[in-house]
Amino acid sequence: MANFMDFASLLALEGKPPTAAQFEVDFAVKHLKGTAQLRLDDEVIEDNEEKLTKIRYTPLGVGVGIVPFNYPFFLGIGKMGPAVLAGNAFIWKPSPYTPNTALKLVELAAKIFPPGVVQALSGEEDLGPWLTAHPDIRKISFTGSTPTGKKVMAACASTLKRVTLELGGNDAAIVCDDVNLDEVVPKVALGCFNNAGQVCVDIKRLFVHEKIYDQFLAKMVEVVKTFKFGGSEDTDGAFFPPVQNAMQFEKVKELFTSIEKEGLKPVIGGEVEAEAGAKKGYYFKPTIIDNPPENSRIVQEEPFGPIVPVVKWVGGEDEVVRMANNTDMGLGASVWSKDLEKAERIARRLEAGSLWINTHQDLAPNVPFGGFKQSGMGHDWGLIGLKGWCNTQSLMTRRSGGMLAPKSRNTGSPPLGQYLSRIPGN
Ligand code: NAD
Repeated sequence: MANFMDFASLLALEGKPPTAAQFEVDFAVKHLKGTAQLRLDDEVIEDNEEKLTKIRYTPLGVGVGIVPFNYPFFLGIGKMGPAVLAGNAFIWKPSPYTPNTALKLVELAAKIFPPGVVQALSGEEDLGPWLTAHPDIRKISFTGSTPTGKKVMAACASTLKRVTLELGGNDAAIVCDDVNLDEVVPKVALGCFNNAGQVCVDIKRLFVHEKIYDQFLAKMVEVVKTFKFGGSEDTDGAFFPPVQNAMQFEKVKELFTSIEKEGLKPVIGGEVEAEAGAKKGYYFKPTIIDNPPENSRIVQEEPFGPIVPVVKWVGGEDEVVRMANNTDMGLGASVWSKDLEKAERIARRLEAGSLWINTHQDLAPNVPFGGFKQSGMGHDWGLIGLKGWCNTQSLMTRRSGGMLAPKSRNTGSPPLGQYLSRIPGN
């Protein structure tokens, strides 16, 4: 595919190991191709002797996609594709930490689209507020942290811009006692540490049934020991990057202090790793916390770094559902079991926008993605996401009857007709 390696190299320059950078580009391209298959046709909701009523979806105008640092290419593409497909002009605002792929893509897009249809604006942290305040922008599709999302929503209120908010997550994964550990543990571990915990839908709280808790934890430690961390220079198959920037590094470092302050038990990791082998970067040893209290910071907060709590699930389904829902976040959640009926029964009770059974962070361009509670509002992707880039317009053609019908039950005359007949001139 043309330019594939250029994009991957740009992502690698921003800190990802080449394997992970190529994975992101591949994922983004597939996502864009899938988005291009979506169609928003007029919907006929009534078609009878009296009337024909349709719903149309028309473009909003100029929309902006504000994108975070963690999956800068994929998340930008995930906004640009639907915005343009729905007929809007689109401005891509990348994170100041990871602007390269946005700028490169728009350089290429400018050769294909009419002038101005696809643009990128890169700047420092004052750029986002300028865009959210701008009177000629009709929509902001924001992906980022919950605190920033609240500011975006407040800023958009003054011009009543349409807003989609894809915010932070604290995803639960519930592991039932019947799983095959050899199959499930590697998938769950990858779901926890993908991009070193810097994915909104990484697993951030693991609830493992008490019957298999010890074996699960031991196996997970074994699996995580095999994970290779590395940066852009790493060509020997590393898939897990360091923390992307100094700001995020400081946040995660501060959260790591809770291990000592709250007396938590890391079964692996627990420390900042100033250098991973010969590599310099913002590395932490991947860390698993053994059964922390429910009110500990590591269970309550989104780390966005390579640290995950594994909580022992003692009790029945009600108890694990209560624990999983005990958060202000609600982005994704998964249930792992051989018993699919039971897994779906549990999943249906979870307060999250994306529910998965025997998988996690399984995203697709035709499936709407959005959060419950403080994980966001509205959706990206799928037909619902595409509608989010549109005005909804009803169009009714009256074929017979009309404002003067139906007839009044008491008088047999059309009620509005009676009223109109009293108006002079009628
Ligand atoms: P962030 O909120 O700090 O920044 C996100 C983007 O918003 C950046 O482009 C930034 O420049 C811009 N921004 C900052 N202040 C702004 C303001 N006042 N007005 C407008 N724009 C502003 O987030 P981050 O640290 O880059 O990313 C990490 C967070 O993003 C995590 O919480 C993660 O869970 C979340 N995230 C969510 C999703 C999702 O789809 N729900 C996906 C990826 C990341």
